[in-house]
Amino acid sequence: MKQFTEEEKIQILSDLIAIRSVNENEIEVANYLKDLFAVYDIESKIVPVTDTRVNLIAEIGSGSPVIGVSGHMDVVSPGDESEWTSDPFTLTERDGKLYGRGTNDMKAGLVNLALVMIELKENNQLTNGTVRFMATTGEEVGGAGSKKLYEEGYMDDVDYLWVAEPSPDTIIYSHKGSLNFRITSIGEAAHSSMPDQGYNAINPLMAYLLELDEKLNGDDRKNDVLDQLVMSTTIFNAGNQVNSVPEKAEAEINVRTIPEFDNDEVIDLFHTTADKYNQEGANIEVEVTMSLPSVFTSGQSDMVDLTKDLGKKYLDLDIAVKGSPGVTDGSNLLRDKDETFPFMMFGPGETKMAHKTDEYVYKDYYFAFFDIYKELILGLTK
Ligand SMILES: [Zn+2]
Repeated sequence: MKQFTEEEKIQILSDLIAIRSVNENEIEVANYLKDLFAVYDIESKIVPVTDTRVNLIAEIGSGSPVIGVSGHMDVVSPGDESEWTSDPFTLTERDGKLYGRGTNDMKAGLVNLALVMIELKENNQLTNGTVRFMATTGEEVGGAGSKKLYEEGYMDDVDYLWVAEPSPDTIIYSHKGSLNFRITSIGEAAHSSMPDQGYNAINPLMAYLLELDEKLNGDDRKNDVLDQLVMSTTIFNAGNQVNSVPEKAEAEINVRTIPEFDNDEVIDLFHTTADKYNQEGANIEVEVTMSLPSVFTSGQSDMVDLTKDLGKKYLDLDIAVKGSPGVTDGSNLLRDKDETFPFMMFGPGETKMAHKTDEYVYKDYYFAFFDIYKELILGLTK
């Protein structure tokens, strides 16, 4: 009977935290997990996404239901490491918390998923169905890994999906989409004493952005769970000298979309509005740099019901069930699923600690989620 001790669980998390998978280095995490699975005769497969970035897939059991479990292997940059109380890449325990970059977002969740699979396999506890472990790359930068898994059909036969992102007290069953644009306006330089000799690249871009801001943020369509779409212009660069009319202006925009006002419609609006300005003499170019659709499911499923019960049992929490403005790999993985599909984001960690200095996961939660995940899989496959 295989039963991971708390020491083993901490050691494995510590090994993974020591791997600096700050964008581009997920392959080391994938190799570590691949070796770990191999010790227990679980076959896993590296799925290349780019020359340097990979996903990892592992599977136990056979037939249906197919339970998809997922987590990303990348972490965000630690920022200024001297701001951390202890080294961000050395798992450090203080006051019942495990500190380190990626403890919370989301290596604790990822390790739990892997170790649960191993125990289920070793102890022959999975009598029915399949568990497919999908560790992704590049979640924090546009979800390239999850997009690849969707395109290669890894989601085709999946009946349940949960993503172990940090959300210990709330089951997230729907979330907004996220859409990034880079807009470039090209004009013609001139001395500012003779502006009519040139074309100021800033003016049409400002007007364009304000018009879209009004059209998008002023739109009254509203989703019952996700509320309204929001748009923010977040970067604006132009000009280099106070007495020169600028020939180039560039802005970047992030839009958080809802099913009622989705990515396609927003992209369309950005293009048609640019066309209008361009007909009046501007030269505005629209580039979509990231497009993740919203995820909208009903939240009504045996998975969600069982998870609430398990949250009460192992965490002593009344687990809330909600929508979220954030995005997950679910955006890509659920591209062709409808709103009846059982999806959730639920995992150890603290939602508010993601991407922060002194990131941590509660040690108790880390252990409790192992039990929750295991019982959840057994409950859904019995
Ligand atoms: Zn994350």
